[in-house]
Amino acid sequence: MDFSLTDDQRLIRDTVRQFMDAEVRPTIRARDRAETFARDELRKLGEMGFSGMLVPEQWGGSGADTISYVLMLEEVARVDAAMAVALSVTNSLAAYPIYMYGGEAQQRKYLPRLAKGEILGAFCLTEPQAGSDAAAIAATAVRRGNAYLLNGTKSWVTNGGEAGLYLIFAKTDPGAGARGVTAFLVEPSFPGFRVARYEDKMGLRTSRSAELALADCQVPAENRLGEEGAGLKIALELLDSGRVGIAAQAVGIAQGALEASAAYAKQRRAFGKTIGEFQAVQWMLADMQMEIEAARGLVHNAAWMRDQGATKIGPAASRAKLYAGEMVNRVVYKAVQIHGSLGYSRESDVERMYRDARVISIYEGTSEIQRLIIARDLLRASGEAGSPSHREAVTSRGGRA
Ligand SMILES: Cc1cc2nc3c(=O)[nH]c(=O)nc-3n(C[C@H](O)[C@H](O)[C@H](O)COP(=O)(O)OP(=O)(O)OC[C@H]3O[C@@H](n4cnc5c(N)ncnc54)[C@H](O)[C@@H]3O)c2cc1C
Repeated sequence: MDFSLTDDQRLIRDTVRQFMDAEVRPTIRARDRAETFARDELRKLGEMGFSGMLVPEQWGGSGADTISYVLMLEEVARVDAAMAVALSVTNSLAAYPIYMYGGEAQQRKYLPRLAKGEILGAFCLTEPQAGSDAAAIAATAVRRGNAYLLNGTKSWVTNGGEAGLYLIFAKTDPGAGARGVTAFLVEPSFPGFRVARYEDKMGLRTSRSAELALADCQVPAENRLGEEGAGLKIALELLDSGRVGIAAQAVGIAQGALEASAAYAKQRRAFGKTIGEFQAVQWMLADMQMEIEAARGLVHNAAWMRDQGATKIGPAASRAKLYAGEMVNRVVYKAVQIHGSLGYSRESDVERMYRDARVISIYEGTSEIQRLIIARDLLRASGEAGSPSHREAVTSRGGRA
C-alpha cells in the first residue's frame, strides 16, 4: 500500500495552501465579522481549476483524481471553512452531476462556466419539512408543453443568491414517493425563481444559506437532468461523493485549529513556563493530531476507492464523514480550551473554527443518518465473504466516472 502523494497531488496541495495563506488568511476575521461572501477569492480559485476538479478537461475541468480534490478542500478549509463548502457544492453537487447524468447540450452549456469559476453551483434538496427524509419533499414540477412549472420552497441552499445554476429536486409524480422525484437545472433568471431570505447561522457566516421560493417557476424541458423519477437516486448517489468532500472540510478545519493551538502553546506563558510545557496541554495536542490523522486516513481511503472505480463508496464515505464530523468538534473544543479566554474571543481564529465545525455532523446527512448507512451495509454484508470495505474496493463501477 502506497500512502505517498504524486507530484501532481503535492503541487495542488501546495498551490492551494499558498493561495489561502497569502490571499485569504489576512482578511478572514474581518470578513467573518462582516459576513462578506468570498466572491472574488472563489472566482480566482475557479480560474485556477478548483471549481471543476471532477470534470474532464474536455468540458473545461481539470479532470483531477479524488485524492487531489480532497487535498484541495482540506487546504481551503484549513483557513476558511465557508469557502470550502462553496467549492464542495459547486464541484461535487453541481458540476459533477451535469457531467455524470447530463446530456451533451447541458454539458456544453453549463460545464465550462462552472468548471472555470464563472458561476457557482447550488444543490436544492432540503425543504422546511424534509431534511433527512428526502423523499418527503413537497416541491412539485408539472409539465406544460416544452416547460415544467416548479412550485415549492427549498431551504438551506448553500451558495443561494450567489450561484448561477441551481440543481433543484421536485416531484413530477407526488404519488410515487421516492420514485416520483425529478432533477432540474434552474437558472436564477428563470421566471418564478426568487431568493426569499437568508439563514442567520451560528457559523460559516460568510457562506450563503438561502431559502428559495418557486412560484410557477418556468424551467425548459431540456433542463431536466436525467429521466423523470430518477431524481432521488441521482441526489443520493451525489451525496456519496459529496460526503467525502465534507469529511475533507472537517479535516481541514481541525488541522487549522491544531496549528493555531500548537503555535499558541509555544508562546503563551503561565507559572513561569510556556503552556506547551504542561503535560495537560501536550496531551490535548497529541490527541488532536492523532484524531486528525485517523480522519484523514478514512477520507483518503474513500477518495482512493472512488479513484479505483469502486461501485459503491457510500459506506466508506459515511465512515469518513461520521468520524471526521465528530472528530473536528472534539478538536476545536480542545483548541478553544488551549487558547483560554482568547479562544472565546472573536480576536482568535479558533473561536470561528469552533462555530464553523458544528455543522459538519449535520449537513449532507447527519451523524445519525451516517450510522444508519454504515450499519445497514455491515448487517447486509454479515455472512458474506470479505469485509464491506474489501468488497466495495474490488467491484468495478464502470460508466463514465
Ligand atoms: C449550513 C447548512 C448548509 C446546508 N446546505 C444545504 C444545501 O446546499 N442543500 C440542501 O439540500 N440542504 C442543505 N442543508 C440541509 C441539511 O442537509 C439538512 O439540515 C440535514 O440533512 C438534516 O436535515 P434537518 O435539518 O431537516 O434535520 P431532521 O431531518 O429534522 O433531523 C433532526 C434530528 O433527527 C435525527 N433523525 C432524523 N431521522 C432519523 C432517523 N431515521 N434515525 C435517527 N435519527 C434521525 C437527525 O439525525 C437529527 O438529529 C444545509 C444545512 C445547513 C445547516
